Amino acid sequence: MLSTFTAAQQPPVRHWAIVLHGGAGIIERATMDPKTDAAYRASLRQAIEAGAAVLDKGGSSLDAIEASIRILEDDPLFNAGRGAVFAADGKNELDAAIMDGATLQAGAVADVTRTRHPISLARAVMEKSPHVLLVGAGADAFSVYAGLEQVDPSFYFTERRWESLVKQLKEEGLPIPPRPAGAPPPPAAPVADIEPANAHKYGTVGVVALDRHGDIAAGTSTGGTQAKRWGRVGDSPLIGAGTYASNQSCAVSATGTGEYFIRLTVARTVCALVQYTGMTLQQAADKVIHKELTALHGDGGVIAITPDGQMVWSFNTPGMYRARLAEGGQLEIGIYNDEP
Ligand code: ASP
Repeated sequence: MLSTFTAAQQPPVRHWAIVLHGGAGIIERATMDPKTDAAYRASLRQAIEAGAAVLDKGGSSLDAIEASIRILEDDPLFNAGRGAVFAADGKNELDAAIMDGATLQAGAVADVTRTRHPISLARAVMEKSPHVLLVGAGADAFSVYAGLEQVDPSFYFTERRWESLVKQLKEEGLPIPPRPAGAPPPPAAPVADIEPANAHKYGTVGVVALDRHGDIAAGTSTGGTQAKRWGRVGDSPLIGAGTYASNQSCAVSATGTGEYFIRLTVARTVCALVQYTGMTLQQAADKVIHKELTALHGDGGVIAITPDGQMVWSFNTPGMYRARLAEGGQLEIGIYNDEP
């Protein structure tokens, strides 16, 4: 059959692009051994390549984000899914959000405890419920109803995060909860923790992507902050704070101490600056992170993307695990703040 398009009417060929983060914090060369450094870079590469493969085949930005984040959620190096930090009560309580820039539809969950892939649960909230945000036992129940893979809570357990929790609780004079049921027996010697004592425990993951249809989206998944109490929820699952996407402006995923990101509605503010002031994406992200967040003594960063293919990151911490790739371009992976 002959094409009904004349040359002038052909839909534009769009290029895909994807940016990913794996958390921001006190991540320094001096305290990072080469083996761990290489392990993080390999994980970032694997995750971004999975998302890029989806985009390259013409898949949606939402599918790419979900594919990349599911890999990071299964990777014990990151504070999301398996490898999540522990709350003060010794439980892993997971948060995630996803937003579609084409429709402004969004889905999010907070304090879920049994879903292997919280990002997929956030997507199910967006696509299979009339709501945007579900929390706690209700979100766990919706996960079963939506047919998502369930795991025993011990699935998320890692020795490194457990020892880190115990250490922090001792320092804060708080009671130590029993070792979680189903966790492997404690090792003879403590595992080495690459993170400095009392540091914000980083490793939240997030992805923003642009697909061949010109649509952008954002997703974030986290275990929150270590030793959190009282049902604390951070910015990651709050649309506009840690996660936001609109084809009118940009898509953003944040990482850092969530309380500051909530107060500044960081993700939406970056997009509003792009939409209403004509700033470039880099200018907007830098203004919010280096001026507003820093002025409030908040720590962390963002990754962001626009429908015209700008791909940026901005962070005020010594490091942020990050990677970006556009069709036909070079893969860039960074950890420390002295890398491009
Ligand atoms: N922003 C996350 C939270 O506050 C934590 C992080 O990004 O490290 O829950």
